[in-house]
Amino acid sequence: MTALLEVEGLSVSFRRPGRVADLLTGARRQTIDILIGVSLHLDAGETLGLVGESGSGKTTLIRSLIGLAPRSGGNVRYRGKPLATATEFAAIRTNIAMMFQDPVASLSPRLTVGALLAEPGRIHGLAGERPPAVVDRLLGLVGLSPTFASRYPHELSGGQARRIGVARALALDPALILADEPTAGLDVSVQGDILNLLRRLQRERGLAFVIVTHNLAVVRHVAHRLAVLYLGRIVETGPTKAIFAAPRHPYTHSLIEAEPKPDPRRRRQQLAITGEVPSLLRRPSGCEFHTRCAIARERCRGEAPALIDAGGGRSVRCHFPL
Ligand code: SF4
Repeated sequence: MTALLEVEGLSVSFRRPGRVADLLTGARRQTIDILIGVSLHLDAGETLGLVGESGSGKTTLIRSLIGLAPRSGGNVRYRGKPLATATEFAAIRTNIAMMFQDPVASLSPRLTVGALLAEPGRIHGLAGERPPAVVDRLLGLVGLSPTFASRYPHELSGGQARRIGVARALALDPALILADEPTAGLDVSVQGDILNLLRRLQRERGLAFVIVTHNLAVVRHVAHRLAVLYLGRIVETGPTKAIFAAPRHPYTHSLIEAEPKPDPRRRRQQLAITGEVPSLLRRPSGCEFHTRCAIARERCRGEAPALIDAGGGRSVRCHFPL
């Protein structure tokens, strides 16, 4: 069966903005590698969680899938068809939707919720239902009453704004939604409501999701598979349950152990991460995690580990997997 989305060796690099001194001396501008050789796939109706600290490249990854961040290498295919040129992006514009991290900032403050929900269909020239019917249907899908159509974004609570973000993503009836931190800034109970909403929509509509988050608790119960990113590379990937039960990479282990635990007496942080995320301009030698890894050995400082098949649909990038 053809995967819904296939990503092979995706890389994204940016030229560092030129400094005046460099311009005067003619020095070459430095290239910053944000993503390096990322490969993954997603089936229809599946949820993939992309996790990692800030600077891991997870948001750049989903943006590059739909052409919002320029790629420097690699291939992306949607239902087996290449996705690289403006024409190819235009052909799938109704199939993949993006949910932005800050729903209020991403919505025009001058438009009512009704206008915002009718906008995607109008822009893409979709015929069929009349706009009021579309708006009522979309509000119903995300559990909001039709009265919300006359509100403005600033009149919405965080949870309501997030639901409007989901409704807008559904407007073109996509098969895949790329969700950037869908629960950031929300209370824990509201986070649960939003995740339950996404799960229900997946069940009812067969939607696939790529969910980007720094919060492992968010993906624990909604993602079928995880990809853990560190400094723009996948360091571990596999089924969510298996990774939570027994993480193989020390970084994944530390992220899971750092999650708040219901029982505070439970022993935590056996492999605590130390230090800050290194600068992308000064990547550590060898294994790029060695500066923070509690079990780093001499080999880790000199030799970069490859992403190896760890069995059971799992891969890990470590010389000494747990
Ligand atoms: Fe730690 Fe070495 Fe594995 Fe890197 S290769 S994660 S430094 S043990």
